[in-house]
Amino acid sequence: MESLRLRDPKFMRLVSKKIAKIAPRDRTIKICHVCGTHEHTVTRFGLRSLLPPNVEVIAGPGCPVCVTPARYTDEAIWLAKEGVSIFTFGDMFRVPGTSRSLAEAKSAGADVRIVYSVEDAVRIAKRERDKEFVFFAIGFETTAPTNAYEALKGLPDNMSLLVAHRLIPPAMELLLGISDLAIDGFICPGHVATIIGAKAFRVFAEAYKMPTVVAGFEPADFMLAVLMVLKQIKGREAKLENEYVRSVTYEGNAKAQKMIERVFEVVSADWRGIGRIPDSGYRLRDRFLRHDARLRYNIRFPPSRDIRPGCLCHLIIIGKIKPTECPLFGKTCTPDSPMGPCMVSREGTCYIWIRQGAYEIL
Ligand code: SF4
Repeated sequence: MESLRLRDPKFMRLVSKKIAKIAPRDRTIKICHVCGTHEHTVTRFGLRSLLPPNVEVIAGPGCPVCVTPARYTDEAIWLAKEGVSIFTFGDMFRVPGTSRSLAEAKSAGADVRIVYSVEDAVRIAKRERDKEFVFFAIGFETTAPTNAYEALKGLPDNMSLLVAHRLIPPAMELLLGISDLAIDGFICPGHVATIIGAKAFRVFAEAYKMPTVVAGFEPADFMLAVLMVLKQIKGREAKLENEYVRSVTYEGNAKAQKMIERVFEVVSADWRGIGRIPDSGYRLRDRFLRHDARLRYNIRFPPSRDIRPGCLCHLIIIGKIKPTECPLFGKTCTPDSPMGPCMVSREGTCYIWIRQGAYEIL
């Protein structure tokens, strides 16, 4: 029932009118979100068409699959070739590494299995004790707690983790350093905030003087968040607000945070197409290192080519261009024949735009 209310056209029209009334007319306003699910909502429900032409919504690095370095996929493929069985989420399965994807490795005979959770992976590893397994642990702060939980419970001896978690707030800070992006406000991902708390985004309002709103994923959530950002801009304010109060608290999920803290240590990390961002990833703490796949199998891959020639995913991921500005979009790059990660994952901006037909209506 609640989701129906949050999609009520009458309410959406009302918010749209309020936005039109409050939006500055003398300049372009750029509001950045950093979440594939937000981009999906915005595109699927045509929310950009409900905004004044000078209020632009751009999509930042919100797709965990898209930002996982090609090198990590290469590592997983190498492991598979060495006879290790790989567990991966479906979205990661088809993402090209430097030259091949896990799907292609599987076609060539590698044991690559799609799982829906780390729990499934643990269950299978316990059942097949004679095999060695590696779980490709990708995702933002939302997926780290389940991996931490399994690590704390005790992973089976024949299972290790290829850790690829990434943290959202450091990537948002990086966006603010790109001067020609000129962001006027942030809409922050509600699911990430459910774990780390709205407080994790406070720095953007306080230190960067950026209007910052945590939002949910229904169309009305997003439109209300846009309205809240614009109200702050109009009032020359920069504060942290929480639109998604039905899920997000200021402090977040203390239990999940504690589990993450016990299992992972924050480190600088590479982001596909972006480069190294300080304090933006996790590695396993010392007591869990025997389950670190890179140590266990002595993997030492040099940095690899993240972006194929002609692909503009590095610009899509930071919100600098729209998918339609890539000359390959919908031509040589399609979901059936993707050139870059943004066209593979359901959370990738290019994939969302082509699947939802956004390029025809914008
Ligand atoms: Fe890369 Fe394809 Fe997107 Fe172009 S359309 S940026 S080639 S994923």
